[in-house]
Amino acid sequence: MRLIVLASGSSGNAALIESGGRAVLLDAGLSARETMRRIALAGAGDARVEAILLTHEHGDHVRGARVLARRLGVPVVGTSGTLHGAANCLLDVPELVTVGRRDEFSLAGMRITTFGTMHDACDPCGYTFKSRNGHRVGIATDTGVMAAEVTEALSGCHAIGLESNHDERMLAEGPYPPFLKRRIAGERGHLSNAAAAAALASLRWKGLAHVFALHLSEQNNTPESALAALSKTAGAKTALATVARNEIAGCSL
Ligand SMILES: [Zn+2]
Ligand SMILES: [Zn+2]
Repeated sequence: MRLIVLASGSSGNAALIESGGRAVLLDAGLSARETMRRIALAGAGDARVEAILLTHEHGDHVRGARVLARRLGVPVVGTSGTLHGAANCLLDVPELVTVGRRDEFSLAGMRITTFGTMHDACDPCGYTFKSRNGHRVGIATDTGVMAAEVTEALSGCHAIGLESNHDERMLAEGPYPPFLKRRIAGERGHLSNAAAAAALASLRWKGLAHVFALHLSEQNNTPESALAALSKTAGAKTALATVARNEIAGCSL
């Protein structure tokens, strides 16, 4: 099983989760062309992408969904709120599949579950993926707080993508207008480094091999600050990495 983060942050989000040659795309915030280019660059060009899963309707997650779904001839999966909210980016896609916020289904040979996230979107969710041989991957971004539901979903995962959006002090002292600071730091905004670190403390277990800090703010965070926070609570055997804009990162399980 492989998790490849193709892009992360407000300029575009996309990840490929592959198992036994079959794969799904999680979010489609890059152009179709750029997504395919990065999949090839990551050495996964031969994986058969069978669906596009959406977390929520914000542009940095859905921008490329329409062209990608049509080009690949695959369905787009999301909650009804997300599919409605993203309707303009999903015209003429081959198929829309609605899932709930606590659902379980099979796709591309994997068992996939959904969990609700807290964000200023219609009906946002995250996903976990379980391969046939029991490896688990979970990704949670664009969530203002780590609700119990999120922590519960991610526990027992071997690889986790976790939002580590901002350094609380950099955001507070930075140039953003007060309303935007409140939005980002609020319950329906983005997860801070400190909140991600606290979440990681409760997600720690011996099987957790990889943690990717995702959705880093370019204005209100640095990779060093995110890593410093997360390394305080990650286990010694867990490999930690940040994924900056224009970077690709991944792991094999
Ligand atoms: Zn986002
Ligand atoms: Zn968002």
